[in-house]
Amino acid sequence: HMPTAELQALDAAHHLHPFTNGGELNTKGARIITRAKGVTLTDSEGNEILDGMAGLWCVNVGYGRKEMAEVAARQMLELPYYNTFFQTSHVPAIALSERLAKLSPHDLNHVFYAGSGSEANDTNIRMVRTYWAEKGHPEKKTIIARKNGYHGSTVGSGSLGGMTGMHAQGGMPIPDIHHIDQPNWYAEGGDTDPNEFGLQRARALEEAILELGEDKVAAFIGEPIQGAGGVIIPPETYWPEIQRICEQYNILLIADEVITGFGRTGNWFGCETFDIKPHIMTIAKGLSSGYAPIGGSLVCDEVAEVMNSCEFNHGYTYSGHPVACAVALENLRLLDEEGIVEKVGKETAPYLKKKWESLNEHPLVGETQLCGLMGSMALTPHKDSRAAFAAEAGTAGLICREHCFANNLVMRHVGDRMVISPPLVITNAEIDTLVERAWKALDQAHAQLKD
Ligand code: PLP
Repeated sequence: HMPTAELQALDAAHHLHPFTNGGELNTKGARIITRAKGVTLTDSEGNEILDGMAGLWCVNVGYGRKEMAEVAARQMLELPYYNTFFQTSHVPAIALSERLAKLSPHDLNHVFYAGSGSEANDTNIRMVRTYWAEKGHPEKKTIIARKNGYHGSTVGSGSLGGMTGMHAQGGMPIPDIHHIDQPNWYAEGGDTDPNEFGLQRARALEEAILELGEDKVAAFIGEPIQGAGGVIIPPETYWPEIQRICEQYNILLIADEVITGFGRTGNWFGCETFDIKPHIMTIAKGLSSGYAPIGGSLVCDEVAEVMNSCEFNHGYTYSGHPVACAVALENLRLLDEEGIVEKVGKETAPYLKKKWESLNEHPLVGETQLCGLMGSMALTPHKDSRAAFAAEAGTAGLICREHCFANNLVMRHVGDRMVISPPLVITNAEIDTLVERAWKALDQAHAQLKD
């Protein structure tokens, strides 16, 4: 391929990147990834980089799986595209729907397909409102979500999200979305006991329902673990209380499992890890391990029955795309038959936990959290006080991320929190390398922050 500098110049000239500072693209250029295998990325300079983020939390089966490419090629030759509108269907969509119904917990036996997690959450907004309208309660349309939650980037899903930086651009949130505080004990819990804090933050939902009126609230949406918000693992008391409140007030519960689904937390779904019984589950990312763009809403019997009794005027050209469905089905086969999910729960996550927690001893680290293969660490200038840095939030995180890159490790920062979510096939030796590189990057960041 062309020399890196030329590729970077063309990229900066013609490619508008998501979530990227355009000024930096012009001055520093993009890192150009040319291929990948297992957990390792190769860039245009020949560097081999350990991908501690599985792309964007999605490449669960690891890179370079030949089986996936073969299935995609076969499906493209047989039926590359057909839609699922107007009473048509095809084998890959039928087979994947049956597989998902069997795999998912409780009675989430129905799936509405989308091309991404954002689109699936847009579907959810319209589906829960349509559900209540069909049941004779059109005024039940407010959706309660959380500050610092992330549910996607379309106008609907971005409105469900609680990222103020996103709301500031382009007219979000849309009406009838209400945000409550997040269960982030480390940043907001002060001296409160974590479990007490978990209850308090769950009861913020009850307070909001009472304030808005039970007859006005359609649903609550939350990620079992907030991912893009910084891998915030809620206190144990949080989800059972949320569940109780949703049941008591007749509110639909939507679990956004776009990150936590398909093995990430050591079970097939985060809802199993946290014992949540949602009416709707948002899925994407690990559904195809990122090999094909696909997302969807897994829907319980009760909601599906109502949706099937009317015409839902909603759908995407790529809802149930045959190639994406075939690839997702193969991905689920690999996760299952190779025992990948089971291994995460029993072996890989306990090993990573031990190693990840050793980073607590670093002077720059205030806490570490890990659930399955999803972890975070908070950077702090004063270990014992959980204090924030004097510099603008995110400065230390960005410095640390750049040192990680320089040490051939992809670790992302969310403000001054570092997060990881490696491919589920990561080996113990690769975990050792990940943690060694993280420690080295922390040392370098620490030295730089002292300057
Ligand atoms: N929901 C959650 C919890 C996510 O983390 C994401 C993406 O990171 C989305 C939804 C949006 O998914 P997509 O980027 O596929 O639209």
